[in-house]
Amino acid sequence: MKLSTLFASKKPSLSFEVFPPKSSDSFESVRQATEEIAALSPHFMSVTYGAGGGTSDYTVSIAANLLQHGVTPLAHLTCLSSSKEKIKELLSDLKANGIENILALRGDIPQGEDAGAKREYQYASELVADIKKYGDFCIGGACYPEGHTESVHTADDIRHLKEKVMAGCDFLTTQMFFDNNILYNFLYKIREQGITVPVVAGIMPVTNGKQIKRICALSGTYLPQRFKSIVDTFGDNPEAMKQAGIAYATEQIIDLLANGVNAIHVYSMNKPDVARKIQENLSQIIK
Ligand code: FAD
Repeated sequence: MKLSTLFASKKPSLSFEVFPPKSSDSFESVRQATEEIAALSPHFMSVTYGAGGGTSDYTVSIAANLLQHGVTPLAHLTCLSSSKEKIKELLSDLKANGIENILALRGDIPQGEDAGAKREYQYASELVADIKKYGDFCIGGACYPEGHTESVHTADDIRHLKEKVMAGCDFLTTQMFFDNNILYNFLYKIREQGITVPVVAGIMPVTNGKQIKRICALSGTYLPQRFKSIVDTFGDNPEAMKQAGIAYATEQIIDLLANGVNAIHVYSMNKPDVARKIQENLSQIIK
């Protein structure tokens, strides 16, 4: 199923994310975690590409395996370190495996590489355009409610986002955020600029306090005081942090749904217990 059909229904939806293994040694454990999350029958599941410690090699196989388990996959694809030829090959591979949805991304500039170096792809919008030309995929793009780290001005970021959407995005998925007002503000600004495609809200249930503080410091993600107090109090107790992180994410999701943001994507990071708990918490809210 194309995700554009799901989003057009405007019904609340819940999806989860997994990342592929780093090496063949951990392939089985990732496959198992993926299948456990798939057994929860989410509306779709996304599979990252070379992010979160996984390599790009297994994205297609993990996504294809989801189809076998009756779950619609969304395969991530990055272009910065790729050639046009390689992207063409990957698109035929995705098509041959029955995968209809792609999240088209640029990828991060590798440490030590020159941001301005000449590459076959400079921005995600170029990948979006190539996928569109290739034909018949539902295409998503990433967006940043707090602005992308490389953007000095939000207005420029939104202008580039509009170019990306015009290149052929059917929907956008947000970077994680911990204060819903940031998303509501962002939605207001992008709608005002004529970006009308569905926006999927990306929610991260925090299960490791120290890690998230480091990630947020690097990415500039705002941590509300209420959230900081939770991390300060429970960060050293993994089970308590998991429970508090899931409760915080659940509250965020309920507030989003109550305010008309219907597509919820959970960064479940190969953790079936976290995905299951979130789904249970919403069992009467998202059917
Ligand atoms: P772009 O849309 O190209 O934007 C990157 C920067 O360039 C922005 O600052 C933008 O404003 C600017 N820009 C865009 N067009 C122009 C232009 N014409 N001129 C000047 N500036 C311009 N990474 C992975 O490696 N694998 C993944 O699976 C993955 N999944 C992700 C999923 C989501 C939902 C999100 C939010 C991010 C994900 N990432 C992933 C991280 C992503 O690759 C990085 O954030 C990357 O730095 C930017 O990717 P992008 O697709 O948003 O890039």
